[in-house]
Amino acid sequence: MANVLAVTEQKGGSLRKVSLEVVTAARRLADGLGGRVDALVVGAPGVDATSANLGGAGADRVVVATDPSFAHYQADGYAATVAAQVRRGGYAAVVFAATASGRDLAPRVAVRLDVPLAVDVTELGVEAGKVVCTRPVYAGKALQMVRLDATPALVSVRPNTFPVAPGHGGAGAPTTETVAAETAVARVIVKELKAAEQGSLDVAEAPIVVSGGRGMKGPEHFHLIEELAKAFGNAAVGASRAVVDAGWRPHGEQVGQTGKTVSPSLYIAVGISGAIQHLAGMRTAKTIVAINRDKDAPIFKVADYGIVGDAFEVLPALIEAVRKARAG
Ligand code: FAD
Repeated sequence: MANVLAVTEQKGGSLRKVSLEVVTAARRLADGLGGRVDALVVGAPGVDATSANLGGAGADRVVVATDPSFAHYQADGYAATVAAQVRRGGYAAVVFAATASGRDLAPRVAVRLDVPLAVDVTELGVEAGKVVCTRPVYAGKALQMVRLDATPALVSVRPNTFPVAPGHGGAGAPTTETVAAETAVARVIVKELKAAEQGSLDVAEAPIVVSGGRGMKGPEHFHLIEELAKAFGNAAVGASRAVVDAGWRPHGEQVGQTGKTVSPSLYIAVGISGAIQHLAGMRTAKTIVAINRDKDAPIFKVADYGIVGDAFEVLPALIEAVRKARAG
């Protein structure tokens, strides 16, 4: 069997954008292995498996497993459900998203299936019938090439590294099948979800990220970072650990080794020195812009464009320029 399972993610009953990236990565493996892509949607009854074009991203079949306790990510039940589907489908490979919940889910499934897992993969393919992948290690300083000999081969892919290729889908819409959810004894229960501000983008998924560091001098100045993000229209606000630890910004915005890993098209680091732990979370961004008043700051070593200057002078001018460019 050379079929591949793509484990999608949903929020509030709608599929998240990263689900399409997972299907795209799964499609690449299935093409190499000569099999089909099944996209697994796990959620509460009513979850909308059509809220993203899974077929367009390359899914041949959509498999839906629901239970009322699955409205939010629920570690034990989700892991049991995914593992059961993998056993049922006899897949050659399984692809997860290396998101916050994917990082929790994938290892639990790997343990249940007793197979290894390659996490946070940025490139993958098939060589001589085996899944091979590339993953950044040592805080992004080196790239590790991994060949997975076990079956199924389990990988989690870094968000924003497998852009959806339009029109990749096969002929027609994918078929949909419903399977039973496994509601294992829930040892972890989600009691409350504190939603981010309405309309704000997740830093791990946004195509543009504007991050502020200790150089912003205090939480009262982060409105400049927010204004720049807003001026772009499709940007999220990020932060260094120094400012999160200081309580200036929520942990959900932290980028880096102990925060989120981001791979946006554009990453703007403002008043961030560029410590290795911060670079670990953003060095795979396509274009990096650094604004820092210290010309020797390490962030300039990874930046594609650097502005040596005071953030409080540069940011207002940049906000104005972006607003004008978008208006014109
Ligand atoms: P600083 O290092 O203090 O840098 C501030 C920068 O602002 C300086 O370069 C300065 O020149 C510049 N600046 C000052 N004033 C201005 C101005 N007016 N205009 C323009 N520039 C100005 N860090 C993370 O970010 N993410 C992580 O996930 C993370 N995980 C860690 C895990 C471990 C185990 C450890 C030990 C550390 C971790 N860190 C992490 C912390 C990391 O080592 C740094 O301490 C942190 O990234 C520094 O944050 P910063 O760049 O905002 O602050």
